Amino acid sequence: MLLTTTLALSCATGGPQGGDAPAPPRTRAEATSYRETSRYSDVSSFIDSLGALKLPLAVGSIGKTAEGRDIPYVIASRPGVANPAAAKSLGRPIVYVQGNIHGGEIEGKDALLALVRDLVVSPRPNALDSIVLIAVPIYNADGNERFGPQARNRTDQNGPELVGMRANAQNLDLNRDYVKAEAPETRASLAMFNAWDPDVFVDLHTTNGSYHGYALTYSPSLAPAAVFGGLYARDSMLPRLRERMRTRHRLEVFDYGNFLSDERAVPESTAAEGWATYDARPRFGTNYYGLRGRIAILSEAYSHDPLIRRVAATYAFVSEILSLVAEQAASIRSLSARASSQPLAWGRSADSLQLVAVRSELVATPQMLDVLKETVERTGDSALHEPGMKRGYRRTGRFSPVRMPVFGSFTSSLDRSPPPAYVIPPRDTAAVRLLRLHGIRVDRSDSAWSARGEAFTVDSIVRSTRAFQGHRETRLQGKWERALQTFPAGSFIVSTGQPLGTLVVYLLEPESEDGLVTWNVFDATLKKGEKFPVRKVLDMSRRGRGRMRRSSITSLSPPARNQ
Ligand SMILES: [Zn+2]
Repeated sequence: MLLTTTLALSCATGGPQGGDAPAPPRTRAEATSYRETSRYSDVSSFIDSLGALKLPLAVGSIGKTAEGRDIPYVIASRPGVANPAAAKSLGRPIVYVQGNIHGGEIEGKDALLALVRDLVVSPRPNALDSIVLIAVPIYNADGNERFGPQARNRTDQNGPELVGMRANAQNLDLNRDYVKAEAPETRASLAMFNAWDPDVFVDLHTTNGSYHGYALTYSPSLAPAAVFGGLYARDSMLPRLRERMRTRHRLEVFDYGNFLSDERAVPESTAAEGWATYDARPRFGTNYYGLRGRIAILSEAYSHDPLIRRVAATYAFVSEILSLVAEQAASIRSLSARASSQPLAWGRSADSLQLVAVRSELVATPQMLDVLKETVERTGDSALHEPGMKRGYRRTGRFSPVRMPVFGSFTSSLDRSPPPAYVIPPRDTAAVRLLRLHGIRVDRSDSAWSARGEAFTVDSIVRSTRAFQGHRETRLQGKWERALQTFPAGSFIVSTGQPLGTLVVYLLEPESEDGLVTWNVFDATLKKGEKFPVRKVLDMSRRGRGRMRRSSITSLSPPARNQ
C-alpha cells in the first residue's frame, strides 16, 4: 500500500538544494554524533522529509508489524517508479535492502537512510540511473522500539548506549522465520518479494562474536540448492566487492564467520584454529532468497567497532553493491530470467531436470586462507574498558593474519529430483496457505483421479527435544515407492514447473532439513510406518491435468466429506 507517492523531479538541473527546497534530513545517528540510533518516529520523519524534497521516490508501507506499526519502504530510481509494473517496464535490476531485522543491530537502518538520501539528492549520475532500489530501513520496527541498555540488549556490541531488542513483539526471531512465516513482518516481506521479484536482496546485520580484523563480513545464500544467485554472488560479486571496499574505502571485509575457538557449533573440526560460516538453511532470509533463484547478500558490520565505523562500513558496502549491480545489470537480469525459466522445462525431458539439494553439510575440505585476528589482552583489573567487552579485557587494535582452515560453504548431503508435481490432501489447508504466502502457485482438482506416482513411507520421526521458536523441529526418514496413486476430489496440486520450482521441492520434500515437515505443518497426520500425506505425481499427461483448475486464495475449504 502506498501512503504517498512523489514522482516528479524537482527541477531539471539543480536537485533539491537549489531555490526554496528544504534541506535534506539528517539521521538521528548523524545528528547526535553517533551517540544515538533512530527510533521509529525518527525514521518516519526522515522519510517524510525525503518525500517533501519532491524527488523521484515513492514511500509506503510493506505491511504492519505485530504491534500494528507500518513498516516503511522507500523506492528510489531515476526515473521514479511506484509499482512493480512500472519497475518491470524499466527492465532494470531491482535491489531490496533491509535493515534492522534484529532490533538491536542498528547501523543498517541509519546507514540505509543516509545512503538513500545521498543517492536521491545527488544531481550526478549514480546507481539509481540503472537500478530500482527498495529500501526497508526498519523491518523489525517493534524490536527497534524496545529500547534498553546495550549491555542487556546487545551484550557484545560497542554501543550506542540504548538499542532495541533482537526479536519481534511476538518474541520471534525474524531471521529464523522465512520458511514458516509466522510473523506478520515475514508475511509482509514475502508479499513484497512476490510483488516486486527483486533480483537482489541484501539483509543488514551486526556480528555477535569473534574479534577479527574486518569492518564487515558478508555471505551469499549458502543453501546448496541456490544454484543461480548463490553461486553468482559468491564467485562474481563478493570478490569484487571485497576488492572495492579495500581500494576505494580502505576497509577490509571478508566472508562471514567466527573463529572455531569461539564457535561451539563446529565440533567436528580437529584444527587448532579455523574460521567457519554459519548455516545453510532457508529459515535465514538470505539463504531463503537464494532458493527463489535470486541473489542474496548478508552484511554483518563488526559489533566491536563503534557505531560511526559500523555505519560507515555498512554505507560503503551497500553503496558498492548498488554500483556493482548497476554495472552488471544485464548479467543479473539474465540470471534471474534463467532461474525462473529453468523449472518450467522440468519434466519435459529427463535431461532438463536439476537435482534439488534438500539437506546440506559444511564443506569437509576447507580452504587454507589468512584470516585477520585481533589481539585482545588482559588489563589486570576488573574494569569495563569498552561497551561490549568483557571486564578486565581490552582491544589492542593490533591485527595479524593467521593461516587457518576456512569452512565457508556447504555441500548437498541429500538431493531430490523434482517430480512434475506434488499432491497435497484436501485437509492440509495450512500447508497450502503457507505455500501461497511464498508465492507458490497451488492448483486444485475438481474430481477424484489417479496417476502414476510415488508415496513416502515414514520409517522414523525425530523431534528435537528442545523447543525452538515455539516448535519442536521434526525430521523424517523413510523411503519413496512407486505405485499408482489415487487422489480425492479437492486435492491440491503443486506443479514444480513454475518459477519457484526449486522452493516447491525444498519445502515439500519430507526429508528436507528446513521444509514444512521441519516446522510441524504435517504433524497431525505423521505416523511411523504410514504414508507421508504429500505424494509425488510422475505423470500429469492424462488424468488430473484436464481437471485441474486454479483455485483462489479464498477457496481453501475442502469438500465437506474431507473435513
Ligand atoms: Zn542479526
